[in-house]
Amino acid sequence: MAQPDWHAPPENDSPPRKAGIKIHNSLTSRKDNFVSLAETVSWYACGPTVYDDAHLGHARNYVSTDIIRRILQDYFKLDVNFVMNITDVDDKIIIAAREQHVLDQWLAGRSSVDDEVRKNTSDAFAWFVDKRLPDLPKHTVFTNYVDSFEQSYGHVLQGKSTANDGTPPGDDEAKVKRYHKEALAAVNALEAGDSNLQSFIEGASSVLKPHLDSLHGHLIDGSDHNIFTKLTKKYEQRYFEDMASLNVLPPDKLTRVTEYGPQIVDYVKRIQDNGFAYEHEELPKKVPIDEESVNENPAKAKSVYYDTGKWVASGGEYARLKPASKTDKAAQADGEGSLASKDSTFKRSAADFALWKASKQGEPFWESPWGKGRPGWHIECSAMASDVLGKQIDIHSGGVDLAFPHHDNELAQSEAYWCEQGHVDPKNQWVNYFIHMGHLSIEGQKMSKSLKNFTTIRESLATKEFTSRRLRIIFLQGAWGSGLEISKTVKETAAKWEESIENFFLNVNDLPEMKDLSLASNGTSGTASSLDGALQEAKQAFREALQDSFDTPTATRSIADLVSKYNTEANSDRRVPNATSLSIARWVTEMVHMFGLDATRLQPEQIGWSGSTIPDEGKQFVQALASWRDTVRAQANDAPSEAKWPVLDDLPGAQNPDNAYAAAYAAFSQRVSKLTEVSATKAACLQESDYLRDTVLWDLDIGLEDRDGRPSLVRPLSARARRERAEAEEKANAKATAKAAKEKEDQEKLEKGKLSPLEMFKTDEYSEWDADGMPTKDKDGKEIAKSAGKKLRKRWDVQKKAHEAWLKSQEA
Ligand SMILES: [Zn+2]
Repeated sequence: MAQPDWHAPPENDSPPRKAGIKIHNSLTSRKDNFVSLAETVSWYACGPTVYDDAHLGHARNYVSTDIIRRILQDYFKLDVNFVMNITDVDDKIIIAAREQHVLDQWLAGRSSVDDEVRKNTSDAFAWFVDKRLPDLPKHTVFTNYVDSFEQSYGHVLQGKSTANDGTPPGDDEAKVKRYHKEALAAVNALEAGDSNLQSFIEGASSVLKPHLDSLHGHLIDGSDHNIFTKLTKKYEQRYFEDMASLNVLPPDKLTRVTEYGPQIVDYVKRIQDNGFAYEHEELPKKVPIDEESVNENPAKAKSVYYDTGKWVASGGEYARLKPASKTDKAAQADGEGSLASKDSTFKRSAADFALWKASKQGEPFWESPWGKGRPGWHIECSAMASDVLGKQIDIHSGGVDLAFPHHDNELAQSEAYWCEQGHVDPKNQWVNYFIHMGHLSIEGQKMSKSLKNFTTIRESLATKEFTSRRLRIIFLQGAWGSGLEISKTVKETAAKWEESIENFFLNVNDLPEMKDLSLASNGTSGTASSLDGALQEAKQAFREALQDSFDTPTATRSIADLVSKYNTEANSDRRVPNATSLSIARWVTEMVHMFGLDATRLQPEQIGWSGSTIPDEGKQFVQALASWRDTVRAQANDAPSEAKWPVLDDLPGAQNPDNAYAAAYAAFSQRVSKLTEVSATKAACLQESDYLRDTVLWDLDIGLEDRDGRPSLVRPLSARARRERAEAEEKANAKATAKAAKEKEDQEKLEKGKLSPLEMFKTDEYSEWDADGMPTKDKDGKEIAKSAGKKLRKRWDVQKKAHEAWLKSQEA
């Protein structure tokens, strides 16, 4: 199905137009010339829904968005007004906050796992598996769960679909796996018999929370927003901490749904006044008579729905982004939220969606002309973006899964809001450029919160699975609009790129002539080099790539190509003129900083990124240690019989406890002062210099390389050095493990020989033996048959050999 006409903004001399930028526009599915409406580019980005920690899939979205923003601001030098929202009212938030609240209430006054706790949990378990894993036999309880699951869903764990008919597994199967994991956690808690409530709840909360919510959630006071904002404030803060650790710039303006209640009401009202919304009275949910409702008769409340049919009949466009999805019932239901009523028969058209939702019991509410209610998901963004950026926006962005229905609904309702008294002009498109960040997948499956198959950003950085820089490089090397699978190859390609850039920075910083040069100076003049041309070509290719819808894979390649040309030249006998080295290094530095690859650049004039020069506070200590080592090694070469250890001088600042370099220097000085009593033999000198290099300096992240006839080279450890050392350690560990296993095996074999062959058959099985201890009669006094005797003799011989070996080992 074709997308409706897109109306290019009027040709003008706006800064993006002058910069020659094209953007892949989801509104046309092609690259369009980027023209902004005004000098400042207006940009609205859908932000996080804050009820959980952000995962790597979110990192892809927010880091890729940040990269594009930096390209516009810092490369093309455009003025960008970047607005982002925090979704802090949402069905998922309501559920998560309420579940936590009812669990906290249930826990209050309990201190250990007593019979009642166990009873409540096993009831919750039975309820949970009945709801979530419907193929299980009725009345599955935790004691027979594992077998029942194996029978009903075993094939899903083996990678088949629930139907087990050869169809490929998808989201449904991932959900089964998630629920299974949660059920198992509860089974383990129940079976552990632990009386510690804290550890019990860790496993059991997955079934307790939803069950308690189903029992008591509707009793929560919806006017008390604190129950909900307690959760959202915590996760909003954690979100921004994560973004800071990924070096993602904060938005110029941040909007929160909780701060927009009245404006959203006005927004919906105007859409209704323009004729594109209708009301629907939700039927009250039957509440047991013995339960007292806290909400005042919520039955009077009405919901408000967007009238897609009326909008289209009046000449408006619906589903500009994904016209083919107009009939996608699953996506539409998902967009309405998990708390939405399943009944949609009242809708005038299946695509109609909620602008305003009557709050049910246990849901937060705001006062409105329709009674107590809360905003629908899509309207939140429309109201906030319109409030800050107005009638038309240059760029709107988000993850690709938001395109339909979220963004299509946003467009429809915003255009309905902005049309003059119901007069629709399809040329009035609310957004001119829609950009969508591709998915991140793992083993072919998209990471998602609802499937719980994700690694959080925190975990991934804390476990050093990725560094912030490495992750950003991975995202730079993948096209922002396409899906990305973090495979082994993708990781290796990123590692290689990072190492080559890093080595380039280290090498340039090590050029003796570079020491006094900085980004601000021009370097010394020198002869022209073919590299001067290569630099111009790289700059050109880089610019063209970024103009071409921010093609960062090509742009990063052009940097790598230039560096590789530089290396070839620098390693040949032709000397690269200083001025050339400096201009290349300066440009590469600027571009990697522009991409956000360095969060902690301390001195703007420095060449490289953090980690490519030794920090100032460490320089004197590191240099002093390195020259001490040079002296000791020279001494060892002369192989003196009674040489003395050189002393380390007291350096100013060596007592500063906050300086890790000073502390390492002081500790090593002390060690040396003790050494003076030992004579400095050659072996001792070499041992001490290895210790200094491999332990003291290494722990300071400093690498040291010996050079013939010159002082040793000290510089920050490169990623390659770290990797090589890790690999060597891994190898050594594997070798040691294998050796230990072999020794254990030998020992066990030897132990078997402990028993003398004379004693080996002295058991109840026999009644008489000869002088060798060989049985002659069985337990009933019957003679041992000849054939059986032969077999016994064989075993006797084997044991004799083993026993001799054992005796020998005992002598040793
Ligand atoms: Zn949004």
